[in-house]
Amino acid sequence: MIVIKTPREQDLMRKAGHIVALVFKELKDYIKPGLSTLDVANMCEKIIRSNGAYPTFLGMYDFPGSVCISVNEEVVHGIPSKHRILREGDIVSVDVGATLNGYIGDACRTYFVGTVTENARRLVTVTEESFWDAVNKFAHPGARLGDISHAIQEYCESRGYSIIREYTGHGVGSKLHEDPYIPNYGESGTGPVLKEGMCLAIEPMVAEGHHAIRVGKDGWVARMKDGKLSSHYENSILITKDGYEVLTMLKEDHHG
Ligand code: MG
Repeated sequence: MIVIKTPREQDLMRKAGHIVALVFKELKDYIKPGLSTLDVANMCEKIIRSNGAYPTFLGMYDFPGSVCISVNEEVVHGIPSKHRILREGDIVSVDVGATLNGYIGDACRTYFVGTVTENARRLVTVTEESFWDAVNKFAHPGARLGDISHAIQEYCESRGYSIIREYTGHGVGSKLHEDPYIPNYGESGTGPVLKEGMCLAIEPMVAEGHHAIRVGKDGWVARMKDGKLSSHYENSILITKDGYEVLTMLKEDHHG
């Protein structure tokens, strides 16, 4: 069942999402070569907690980190570690959840560590663009969920990339994963009809090579089987009367 958020709940979603946006604001200038992924996670956790929120992913399904940090060929669910040092040229995705007053903001950015290759830059850019292309066209009442899925797939595949199948976007609210699941591939004109008050975490996960993944020995980190790069971009959005509102981004950064 897809939860329609009341105006009060929508406001709580805005407040939780705002904290996630504050984390990204800080990370933009913070991430650099030589930091460990644990350093990055600790910075995220500090901002989340100093704003009165809780790092949603910590302990969820027994995940041991406060955020998920995935480097290069790692797709999602990287466990922050003091032994994993970021190097010049890496791309690093930081997936952040913040719970405030029982409501959750969930979003991800993929950052460049120093100067990256043109290939890496293009992959990350196309991943982000696929999100905006899809929501600008189809995140409004009356569109179908499959329209969003299809738009993301079309945008990425027509540029030579592939879509990871095992992980999807999702409804978000008082639970991290609510209905509906939102694959980044699919048929337009299918799936639930979007309605005002739905909150959706839309998150393209895109591969440079083949989309097959393998989960690591720790039971968490998912990597590309072919060792090529992958990129991840996510925002939680609210479907409004005539379109959408991004919950996990500061107004000044909004370029949708
Ligand atoms: Mg998510």
